[in-house]
Amino acid sequence: MRRIERAALAQETCNGLLMLQDAVDAQRGQAAFDPVDHWKGKRTSLHILAVYATLKRMAGPRERCMYCVDSQGSDIEHFWPKSPHFDRMYQWENLLIACTQCGRFKGHQFPRAEDGAPLLIDPSAEDPWQFLEFDPVTGNLNARYLLTTEAYSPKGETTVRVLHLDRREGVAAGYLKTYRRLSQVFAGWLNQPLPRNYIEQLREADDHGLLGWFLNGSGQNESSLSRFRKRYPDAWAECQQSFC
Ligand SMILES: [Zn+2]
Repeated sequence: MRRIERAALAQETCNGLLMLQDAVDAQRGQAAFDPVDHWKGKRTSLHILAVYATLKRMAGPRERCMYCVDSQGSDIEHFWPKSPHFDRMYQWENLLIACTQCGRFKGHQFPRAEDGAPLLIDPSAEDPWQFLEFDPVTGNLNARYLLTTEAYSPKGETTVRVLHLDRREGVAAGYLKTYRRLSQVFAGWLNQPLPRNYIEQLREADDHGLLGWFLNGSGQNESSLSRFRKRYPDAWAECQQSFC
């Protein structure tokens, strides 16, 4: 999973979303109101198309799903589901893009902790690698073990369970491919001078957001990474600034 930087919308699109949300808020008490129908009716309106285009840009050049980061993000996803959370249906901060499979697995599920906070990772609001662990043997994503609580991250566990991130062969194969590619890139720079565009090269090689795991998670303990860190401490700091 990758940390997503949320872009700003054009003022006209912000105003359009506010109008749509006002319309929902005004109708929500009516028995005949169906939020899914309302969304379907507006999905191809100019404002929502502008939202979709911005989300695709945020997802990077390959427009990947913001949950699995493996398949193409094929539609707008409501982090807090449309039903029953009508009040967030047109809120910019609630919108992501997801692939068909992640959308199907999540469905209307939205587990929350006792204090009401979501137990799913919102990649546009937090660093997913605070909660997730990557397994370089299987390619699966698992919950991260937190030393502070001496337990697995509940948010990591729930996200993995809901999105099946520990049992999707295609996704695991994609992560493994990126893991090997990035490992080779770091190892290669131990035997030759660091190229000037190393940040761009890393960004280009990271199809799955694994740099967060390499630079800020347990990937730091990989031998090529610890040697890279010792050899290029300034570059290491710059990588952390760029990708964490
Ligand atoms: Zn997905």
